[in-house]
Amino acid sequence: MKNTHFDYAIIGAGAAGLHLAMAMTNDDFFLNKKILIIEKDLKDSNDRTWSFWEKEKGKFDSILKNSWKFGEFHSDTLSKKFDLGKYRYKTLRSSSFYSFSKKKINSHSNFIWVHDEVEKVEFPSESSPTIYTHNNTFTSTHIFDSRVDEDFNSKEDSNIRLLQHFKGWFIKTETPAFDVDKFIMMDFRLKWKNHTSFIYVLPFSPTEAIIEFTLFDQAIISDNVYDLKIKKYLDEFLELKNYSITEKEKGVIPMTDFPFHKKNNNQLTKIGTAGGWVKPSSGYAFKNCEKNAYKVVENLKSNRIPSYQLFNKRYQWYDTILLDILWNKNELGSEIFTSMFKHNSIESIFKFLDEEGTILSDLSIIKSFNPTPFLKTVGKRMLSKR
Ligand SMILES: Cc1cc2nc3c(=O)[nH]c(=O)nc-3n(C[C@H](O)[C@H](O)[C@H](O)COP(=O)(O)OP(=O)(O)OC[C@H]3O[C@@H](n4cnc5c(N)ncnc54)[C@H](O)[C@@H]3O)c2cc1C
Repeated sequence: MKNTHFDYAIIGAGAAGLHLAMAMTNDDFFLNKKILIIEKDLKDSNDRTWSFWEKEKGKFDSILKNSWKFGEFHSDTLSKKFDLGKYRYKTLRSSSFYSFSKKKINSHSNFIWVHDEVEKVEFPSESSPTIYTHNNTFTSTHIFDSRVDEDFNSKEDSNIRLLQHFKGWFIKTETPAFDVDKFIMMDFRLKWKNHTSFIYVLPFSPTEAIIEFTLFDQAIISDNVYDLKIKKYLDEFLELKNYSITEKEKGVIPMTDFPFHKKNNNQLTKIGTAGGWVKPSSGYAFKNCEKNAYKVVENLKSNRIPSYQLFNKRYQWYDTILLDILWNKNELGSEIFTSMFKHNSIESIFKFLDEEGTILSDLSIIKSFNPTPFLKTVGKRMLSKR
């Protein structure tokens, strides 16, 4: 395998790498291309649960843990039930996604899967980009890289780095306790020190659900705080006493306006979290990875830089304003999301979060917010040209 050359190399077979590889398997353009996937882990176990929304049928419906047509939103001033209309909220386990995509990729002989860790990537001026792993060296005409760059972790710039951090309990009850057709998207009634924090509940069967406590905040909290909050929610809001915890899940997702896209060029495309494919104001990334993978494929086919038009400046601006408010006035999170859910249908909220609105439809979402913090933040940013 030493010194083998590939047309494309994908570093990291997580959400972004696998979506990209699968998008390539779906297109004959790539049949005669040699594609390398390098992944340091085995990807044979469950390491996260992915939720996303999409309009009715999707590519992963056969591996879903559940999907919902109805949802609820709660805060101190609003309790709202909604019908998702054309959309479905869907959840799948990462282990199902990994085996589903591996099976598909392995059925294409032009893909080579290497289990190894990338140590460094170099871009020599006279030859192809070179990838050094523990055991091998490869060259590739283009590299798709899901490793998050050191400069993001070094925090030596003025970009906002909010964290979406959470812990969830998978529970099993002795008697039926959940409506499997309805999930709780956000419940702000349980607070942590007035910070932006909420619970969500995804029922998988009448006796099984995941209950997760989430914060959009500057710092991680100690482990037992999440546990206390989830227990309190089960006791006081769901009034459940007899249940067992079958599994726990923890995670941290960056919510940031860091300019990941600046790394992209004709030889390198950063993908997934490392490429800024996480929606900064919501932390959702799974569906974005799928959408961006297909855009990258179209760009490659059209001989454009692969990252061409992956980002929409208007929505980047909205995201930055919301991040700035949550960074400086974190206590406003509940009020902001309450206004959004109070005045808009879930379908228009999803369209807005999917960056598929028109300026007019965006404005109708934006005008539902209390204008003061938004105008102040816009003014501050325009003055400082941050
Ligand atoms: C616990 C958790 C739950 C989440 N839930 C949701 C959700 O419900 N909905 C949603 O939309 N988003 C969710 N996210 C956010 C986002 O979808 C995920 O973080 C997603 O996995 C990001 O995709 P990625 O490809 O960038 O990273 P990953 O999926 O983490 O993949 C990166 C891959 O690169 C490999 N790798 C890293 N370094 C190297 C190296 N040097 N050499 C070789 N391989 C390497 C890693 O092993 C990994 O497999 C969640 C995140 C977490 C952490």
